Amino acid sequence: MFEVVVEICFYLNLKRQTLNIKLFSGGKPMPIDQELLDILACPKCKGEVKLENEGSSLVCHTCRLKYRIEDDIPVMLIDEAQAF
Ligand SMILES: [Zn+2]
Repeated sequence: MFEVVVEICFYLNLKRQTLNIKLFSGGKPMPIDQELLDILACPKCKGEVKLENEGSSLVCHTCRLKYRIEDDIPVMLIDEAQAF
């Protein structure tokens, strides 16, 4: 019984965190936070990447490559990137 309660609490807590993130980003879902974005760099030129297409991809304007974001995880691979 105790385990079940813990599980429910954990679930509710996760829900709350998701809600908080949505509230703080002005109601819009925020797939990647700024902190992570600051760490991320283009694997080709090591330059800055920008969140584009409403947070669905990361773009390097220097290389003109677009990196997709899958399940909130950016795929920072040159082979997987899309030229534009
Ligand atoms: Zn680049």
